[in-house]
Amino acid sequence: MARCRYCGEGARLLARICADCKKLLACVEQLRGRVGFGEFLDGLEKTGVTKEKIMTFLKADPDGKGSIQDQVTAEMTTELMKVMGIAGRQSAPDVKRIRELVDKEPK
Ligand SMILES: [Zn+2]
Repeated sequence: MARCRYCGEGARLLARICADCKKLLACVEQLRGRVGFGEFLDGLEKTGVTKEKIMTFLKADPDGKGSIQDQVTAEMTTELMKVMGIAGRQSAPDVKRIRELVDKEPK
């Protein structure tokens, strides 16, 4: 029995990803860059996968490129900076302001 590279649960040998994570991954590709983080999580929950498993999935880092959560957060932050017109001058107060804005997203 192979293990899913995202959640560590059993997966079919050649797939290396379980049915739930496959669903979540498709959902991530659909939503990333289009919605805020709260909406993003809502979208993932609509797949019917349990919240615990979604969190495990988001924090997994199978390729060593950063977890899905970090990748999506970074993309959203970059988007937000573009919207705010502050790309290219990321002073500490700017970054703090962005973080506060991101934190205000409904969870
Ligand atoms: Zn999985």
